[in-house]
Amino acid sequence: MSKTKTIFCCGCQRDVEARLTSGRETYSHRRDLHELPFWKCDGCGNFVGCHHKTKNRTRPLGVIPTPGIKAMRSEIHCVIDPIWKSGRVGRRELYGMIAHLIGVNEYHTADIRTVEQAREVKRVAKELGATI
Ligand SMILES: [Zn+2]
Repeated sequence: MSKTKTIFCCGCQRDVEARLTSGRETYSHRRDLHELPFWKCDGCGNFVGCHHKTKNRTRPLGVIPTPGIKAMRSEIHCVIDPIWKSGRVGRRELYGMIAHLIGVNEYHTADIRTVEQAREVKRVAKELGATI
């Protein structure tokens, strides 16, 4: 029997029983990723990677994103990362500001559940980038 874990799936918009698999299945053309763990939703086929460099190497990075949300996340990093890398504000502090502006206790890009949420974060991050 394969190992499963309850994770929120953005494609299904609910908690699903994700199945533990490897890059051999999720990235068959990327040999370099074949040994890495992934949690896959068999309902919609989307999957999430893991904190594989840590002690708990199958701990999911966040929710299971759709390709659209995955793309939005990298756009968000393109806006957010230069702000804290500039040194004008610390990374923690910046994430705290974003959390406050979108009305959550803690903000993690890997926890974004919808394209709408991603758009809001991107808008807020752009504003912060222009003002701090
Ligand atoms: Zn799903």
